[in-house]
Amino acid sequence: MQENTIYLTKEFEEKYTYTGNDLGSTYSKESTSFRVYAPTAESVTLNLYEDGLQGESYETIAMEPAENGTYKVTVSGDLHKKYYTYTAKVDGKAKEAVDPYAKAVGANGVRGMVVDLSTTNPEGFLEEKRPKKINTTDAVIYELHIRDFSIDESSGMKYKGKYKAFTEESTVNDDNLKTGVEHIKELGVTHVQLLPSFDYGSVDETKLDVPQYNWGYDPLNYNVPEGSYSSDPFHGEVRIKEFKEMVQALHKQGICVVMDVVYNHVFNAEEFCYQKIVPDYFFRKDGDKFSDASACGNETASNHLMVRKFMIDSLKYWVEEYHIDGFRFDLMAIHDITTMNEIRKALNEVDENIIIHGEGWAAEESVLPEKERALKKYTYRMPGIATFSDDIRDAIKGSVFEELEKGFVSGEPDLEELIQFGVTGAVGHSQLYRKDVTYKQEIPEPWALEPAQCVNYNSCHDNYTLWDKLAVSNPDKSPKQLKDMNKLAIAIVFTSQGIPFIHAGEEILRSKPDKTKEYGYEENSFKSSDEINSIKWNTKKENLDIFKYYQGLIAFRKATKALRLSTKEEVEQSIEFLPILPGVVSYRLKTTEEELFIAYNAGEKEVTLELPEGTFGVYVNKTQAGVELLEKVEKQVVVAPVSAMVLKKVK
Ligand code: CA
Repeated sequence: MQENTIYLTKEFEEKYTYTGNDLGSTYSKESTSFRVYAPTAESVTLNLYEDGLQGESYETIAMEPAENGTYKVTVSGDLHKKYYTYTAKVDGKAKEAVDPYAKAVGANGVRGMVVDLSTTNPEGFLEEKRPKKINTTDAVIYELHIRDFSIDESSGMKYKGKYKAFTEESTVNDDNLKTGVEHIKELGVTHVQLLPSFDYGSVDETKLDVPQYNWGYDPLNYNVPEGSYSSDPFHGEVRIKEFKEMVQALHKQGICVVMDVVYNHVFNAEEFCYQKIVPDYFFRKDGDKFSDASACGNETASNHLMVRKFMIDSLKYWVEEYHIDGFRFDLMAIHDITTMNEIRKALNEVDENIIIHGEGWAAEESVLPEKERALKKYTYRMPGIATFSDDIRDAIKGSVFEELEKGFVSGEPDLEELIQFGVTGAVGHSQLYRKDVTYKQEIPEPWALEPAQCVNYNSCHDNYTLWDKLAVSNPDKSPKQLKDMNKLAIAIVFTSQGIPFIHAGEEILRSKPDKTKEYGYEENSFKSSDEINSIKWNTKKENLDIFKYYQGLIAFRKATKALRLSTKEEVEQSIEFLPILPGVVSYRLKTTEEELFIAYNAGEKEVTLELPEGTFGVYVNKTQAGVELLEKVEKQVVVAPVSAMVLKKVK
């Protein structure tokens, strides 16, 4: 397979690469200019409408051919809140399409809207500052779906399923325990990562009184917030303001906002605006068919220069207009490495503090040669960009593709070395690649240049929740035993080098029970009901011990620099793995400032481990975690079955 298209020829790229920053609509009170990239079109007209959904256009205006395959026109008058589309005629066929660069749209995103963005800023928004600069390894990411956050009765929130729920303060559940943004703040995470929140296609925005649900991995308009989370999807300016209010409310609590971006495919390729305006330019083709590395019917072509520019322009726009602090790239390995590096460069010019990470895999094969793709194994070729460590994820609790498979915490043997690899943040360690040792499991080659390129996690929106995976793969274990496994699993994530990441609700044992499923739980809830997907805030009370354990681990991590090392060299010098015992991984972590002793015992019996010289304070054990000294020990430490111990040398 290989792409075969005139769009990749030098001649085409030289003639038809537009580099200006005025694609889309450029508004002023006196006039609005429109420019669209349409190199193969015979003609393009601009259609103006009063409404976002209904009625005929009140004016159509021919656009003039302009530089590098673009068409442009300037319309005088104040067009704020006027809707518009383009009609492009290609090969004699005229098709109407929404502006790929639309900044606002009406309901269901079928028409763009001209917007005076200065009217969409909540009070104080222009003056607000991003939470202060931190090292990437200081981040703790919390992955959240906007609707799941507030839709359940137990949220105690008024604006259920809406952006506005994030602006609600002092919300509580039935037991008077904090919910919502206050809960997130109480937990101590630094970044909230929102599942797709740009305009997507799978929810009908005109029927919001009917319960509808989707994760939103089906992009429609990349530069516009999704309408179903707004209080009024019919008026394009409303969702913009409400999205900004959400960002502002999180920033006010010191929490950064990461967007999950899905530039790798679109909802419907044939119906997508760029497909109508420049046929087959936005997507990679495999012969006559769309190449389909996303397994959603198409894949975009980041290697085509104007698609690459589209992605960069879009990301910069979210950062500058909405104050977004980071991006998570869905199926990042569909994109080419050059594009990802160009993105890092462009965002650095705005703010180096913006974090970028992504899934270092695709769903299916792509026509783009493997060596050019942003795969996990090539993470080291993308400095400043992190990928998810499925290595640690699957080693801890068993493969996401094998329901019944157990992992390290559930007693599966021979995973100790993979856990060690995870602890290094995927940068590796000389103790792990010794020639005189035969490893029981194949250890991946180091794929990260530094720990900041590795995201460690147990669970995310995909697959079973952590709790459900443990329950399904350990049917003979009691809830008490499963809780112990859960605690050990999260202790490994929060003490490993790299960027820790949790699925929202993991800290109160989020579960998606579904009796119709073979194992009793839903593992792919992308369009399941609110009942299955929502966060049940009333489970906080019965799982308060788990919540406090997560909270304590985060606090301890924040207070302990040695858990947040920046370089591969520091990891090599600071970590000394102690001999492996069956089901036991232990190591010293020693920097010039701190000395830690960390042990994970997945076995069913307690183990006694020798400590280095000196007095050590216990901060994390089987039941508790935090910055409070629990006890002092010397010479030896007893690690309880299925538990983690974290000790810090007392000065
Ligand atoms: Ca939508």
